Amino acid sequence: MTSQMGDPGTLGHFGSFGGQFVPEPLMPACIELEEAFRDAWGDAAFKNEYRTILRDYAGRPTPLTRCHRLSEELGINLWLKREDLAHTGSHKINNVIGQALLTKRMGKTRMIAETGAGQHGVASATAAALMGLECVVYMGEVDTVRQALNVFRMELLGATVIPVTSGSRTLKDAVNEAMRTWVSEVDTTHYCLGSVMGPHPFPWMVREFQRIVGDEAFAQAEHEGIGVPDFVVACIGGGSNAAGMFAGFVDSPATLVGVEAAGGAAISSGTPGVLHGMRSQLIQDDMGQIQEAHSISAGLDYPGIGPEHAHLAQTGRATYVSANDTEVLDALQRLASREGIIPALESAHAVAWVLRAAGKEIPFGSSVVINLSGRGDKDVAQVLEILKGHKA
Ligand SMILES: *Cc1c(COP(=O)(O)O)cnc(C)c1O
Repeated sequence: MTSQMGDPGTLGHFGSFGGQFVPEPLMPACIELEEAFRDAWGDAAFKNEYRTILRDYAGRPTPLTRCHRLSEELGINLWLKREDLAHTGSHKINNVIGQALLTKRMGKTRMIAETGAGQHGVASATAAALMGLECVVYMGEVDTVRQALNVFRMELLGATVIPVTSGSRTLKDAVNEAMRTWVSEVDTTHYCLGSVMGPHPFPWMVREFQRIVGDEAFAQAEHEGIGVPDFVVACIGGGSNAAGMFAGFVDSPATLVGVEAAGGAAISSGTPGVLHGMRSQLIQDDMGQIQEAHSISAGLDYPGIGPEHAHLAQTGRATYVSANDTEVLDALQRLASREGIIPALESAHAVAWVLRAAGKEIPFGSSVVINLSGRGDKDVAQVLEILKGHKA
């Protein structure tokens, strides 16, 4: 049986979503990349090098941790897949290590990346430093001000940060700028895209680089005697941590739940359209103008969602729900005070839905695995400001 999250073919179609909606000059770059990735991913030596770096440098496998106190309070059997313990504090390292290795394999010396809150930029700069690649990160000017500390982190790691001044000067514009630069410098430069979005092969390739999360969790759940969990839950920005997690369970009976930010819910309040080279669900007005996404966590502020998630929603294989800022703040505090784990605000969306759904959509006694995509250290100043009214 072929997997429900398998190879989308050379056109990169996930049902009616995905594809390569790019200007003519970008097509050769997409084709070169899809051929290079297809070749690398079929090469045992490449996979072995990727897995070895993730083990020895990034700290994989990450643990599967049982939440004893919350399980008792909620009447469910709750576990966390601990991507917060991976190097740089989230699942993003899995993707950038894969793409940096691919950059070298293609004989390129330079990586460019887009970033919103700065986390993908920091991860990209990290992988580039490790592998001796030049790294340039495009960041909306507005975000460079909001995330000054991450700009400095990238600079410490040897990257150059270029503020993007077009459009709304945020993530959407940084992606456009990175794509433009990629076309003009494709001989030397790889575009390291940060989530399961953009033109084919990115949604497929990034999902494959994140699949290790779901594959580990599947084996760990079996080892712990959970068997196949009843529910597998992950937060969704572009959808990469969820895609990697879901890939490990999609062909099992587990119920898959993706949790979007209420202010950026591309599945529940979006409509089909084309953005950044893909056809997917987007938050747009009646005229097809892309709307700004808003949530407490900058990492979920993307006005769309990866095309494979749009497809999984359409086929009903995965369910998409949302959590609002108030629930997310409560969830962060509850996980911190009950289990001693401060989650990233993004990850707290997944926790928030489980807290709300336990005993309702999630029947008592169910086994639930949440992908804890990242740690919350980066968010504590913001949380302090909101909860205490302090200017941090
Ligand atoms: C970037 C990020 C996300 C959102 O990105 P996805 O591609 O949807 O996974 C979620 N959690 C953390 C901790 C992040 O850094």
